[in-house]
Amino acid sequence: MIPISKPSIDEREIQQVTKVISNGQLAQGDNVYAFEEAFADHFDYKYSAATSNGTAGLHVALKAAGVKTGDIVLTTPFSFIATTNAIIYCGAIPVFIDIDDKTFNISPEKLREKLIEYPNVKYLLIVHLFGQPCQMDEIMDLVVSKELILIEDCCQAHGATFQEKTVGSFGHVSVFSFYPTKNMTTGEGGMIVTHSRELFEKCKLLINHGSKKKYMHEVTGYNYRMTEMAAAIGLEQLKKLNSMNLKRRSNAEFYKKHISNEFIQLPFNRENIEHVYNAFTIMTEYRDELIEYLSLKQIGTSIYYPLSINLQDSVQDYLSAMNETVSHCPISGMVSKKVLSIPMYPGLTEPELKYISETVSSFIPRAVLTK
Ligand SMILES: *Cc1c(COP(=O)(O)O)cnc(C)c1O
Repeated sequence: MIPISKPSIDEREIQQVTKVISNGQLAQGDNVYAFEEAFADHFDYKYSAATSNGTAGLHVALKAAGVKTGDIVLTTPFSFIATTNAIIYCGAIPVFIDIDDKTFNISPEKLREKLIEYPNVKYLLIVHLFGQPCQMDEIMDLVVSKELILIEDCCQAHGATFQEKTVGSFGHVSVFSFYPTKNMTTGEGGMIVTHSRELFEKCKLLINHGSKKKYMHEVTGYNYRMTEMAAAIGLEQLKKLNSMNLKRRSNAEFYKKHISNEFIQLPFNRENIEHVYNAFTIMTEYRDELIEYLSLKQIGTSIYYPLSINLQDSVQDYLSAMNETVSHCPISGMVSKKVLSIPMYPGLTEPELKYISETVSSFIPRAVLTK
């Protein structure tokens, strides 16, 4: 079976982890500091704070940005649940803005409308989904004119750019994940980046039990620290990130050139952006059949995401307990019924890309076959 995703790990990561384990400093050592510094330098972020995973990073970023119980945070309904869960962990209210049906990212027009409905809202949490940056020119106009605090969920977009500006540098604070399916991995891990010294210091404090001085606690924090093993992997992965992203992009170009099927819509990408293809997501009315067809041909697929976040039981229960209404997001609802992601990772070989393209192109729905 060709998997949907696979991390690119080689001897270098294995060597570095072995070194950490042998020397015995497994937590709060030099690798974490070195990884934080290297990550900030690589993208030209001013400050970066390593965390145990992307979800923890989002939680801390929102808290550091000032999100409190009852605050409204505008966000997208079409993402991994962690985006909304981080808002819920703060006791805040997620208000969902519907997405653009081509890019799957938050729609600037819908955001503009929502800001009229909620004139006092302060926070906006966006997601650069599947590796494609949001429409940052229009979003930044709104952020500036409404004086919003912008948090970027970059968990699927390490190295993506909008008009040559790297994601994670638009917002007040931004978060990356290093889960094995992401553009770079540390097993579990995350990174918070910001240009604000104040936000950085708040994040560092929250990640480490609110403590700067040993056993002295200024605020109630968490144990959201990254391990030394994770940081050692991350340092090696960061060196390979550009080449891994280039391979993802060339895989995507290959698919776009070689997949042709009237029942399948290929991903759309905007001009002036650098997409890093964390996922290659197609749309079809015949999704269940296509999954079955590809599975029989040993091609793995995954649905990112089968249910819009505003429709999840956990979110609906939370909002009703808070006496809040759930936003209506018809585009996200429609898209979640049609999307399907096919294998995308740097290690895909040319014969595999060719086989996947030919197989996807050869799919004919039963309803059409029996006509
Ligand atoms: C992966 C992901 C997260 C959460 O990251 P973890 O490291 O798995 O906690 C958050 N948001 C998005 C969009 C993601 O893809």
